[in-house]
Amino acid sequence: MNETYFDIISKKEDITKIINSNRLDDRKRLIDAEAYIKNLIKHEKRLVINDNKSLSVALWFLKCIDEPQLTSRFLIDQRDIFKNYIINISKEDKFLDYIKGLGIPVIIENNIYKINLSFFISYNKRISGYKYRLVYQDIDHGYITVDIEVFSNIMREYIVSRLLNIYNSIDKLDALDAMKNYNNKIESMKIEFKDSIKKYTPSGKIRWDNFPPCIKAYINEINDGGNPAHLARLTLATFLHHIGMSNEEIVKVFSGTADFEENSATYQVNHLTGKISGTEYSPPKCDTLRSNHLCFMDDDPLCRQIKHPLQYYIKKRLH
Ligand code: SF4
Repeated sequence: MNETYFDIISKKEDITKIINSNRLDDRKRLIDAEAYIKNLIKHEKRLVINDNKSLSVALWFLKCIDEPQLTSRFLIDQRDIFKNYIINISKEDKFLDYIKGLGIPVIIENNIYKINLSFFISYNKRISGYKYRLVYQDIDHGYITVDIEVFSNIMREYIVSRLLNIYNSIDKLDALDAMKNYNNKIESMKIEFKDSIKKYTPSGKIRWDNFPPCIKAYINEINDGGNPAHLARLTLATFLHHIGMSNEEIVKVFSGTADFEENSATYQVNHLTGKISGTEYSPPKCDTLRSNHLCFMDDDPLCRQIKHPLQYYIKKRLH
C-alpha cells in the first residue's frame, strides 16, 4: 500500500486527466480525497488512502486550500501511517526488498538495523529523545546500529521530507487552475478548517493572529497529539517566553504533546527561559528553521521580509 508515496503526481497535466475524467474509478478517487481531507479537518476517524492517485488528488486539494497547518496535519497523518506500515511489515520476507527498493542506505540482519550516518543525520533532528542524538551513537564504519523503533521513526521523517518536497514542487496557480471546477468545495473546506482551529487559539494578551506560520504549525501539531521535533519545541518555548507568556502558560501549551510529562516539560521550560540555567535562550533564525524543514512560510508575504520569527510577531503588531 505505501508504495503510493513514491508515485505521487506532481505534474499538472497528469492530475488534470484524473480531475476531468469521467471514469468511475477516477470519480471515486476525487470522492475519497475529499472525504479524507474533511476527516483531517474534523479530526475524525482516520481514513487511509490506498492508492497513489487518490493521495495525489488529496495533495493537490491541499495545495489549493493553502493552509500550512492543514498541510502539516496531513504530513503528520501520513507520517504515522507510514511508520505503522514499516513496523507491520518489518517481520515479513518482503521487508528487506521493500527498503532496498526505496534506496534507503541501511543494512538489516537478524532484526538489527544499521543506518548510514548521513541518512540518520538528515532526519534525526525532528525527533526528540536521547536515542536520536548523535552523541549517544556508536558509529562503526559510517553506520549506526538502531532498533526498529528508531529505524521506523527515521523512516517516518524521511517520508515527511519526501511528501513535503512533492507538495512544494506543485505550483499553487497550477493547482488552482487544475482544480477550478472544485473552487466551491475548496473554499468551504478552507472555511471549515479556519473555524476548526479557532478553539486552539491562546487567550489573553497574547495575539495568536500575530504568530508566524511556523509557530502556529508547531502549536497545531501539539494540539493534534503529535510530537514536534526537538528544535520546534525549543523554538516554540523560547518564542512564547519572549512575547511575554509565563512559564506555567508555556507548559500548558505543551500539554497536548503525545509524550507530555509535566515535570520534565516544566524543567525544560525553566531551563530555556533562564529560570534555572541563568541563560535565556532565543528562538533560532528563520534560516536555521528552514534548513531543518521547520519553516512553514508558504507564500506568507511577511515571512519574505523577515529573518527571525520574533520579527514577524513584532511587525504584525505594528500593523
Ligand atoms: S520565514 Fe521564519 S517566521 Fe516565517 S514561517 Fe519560516 S521560520 Fe517562521
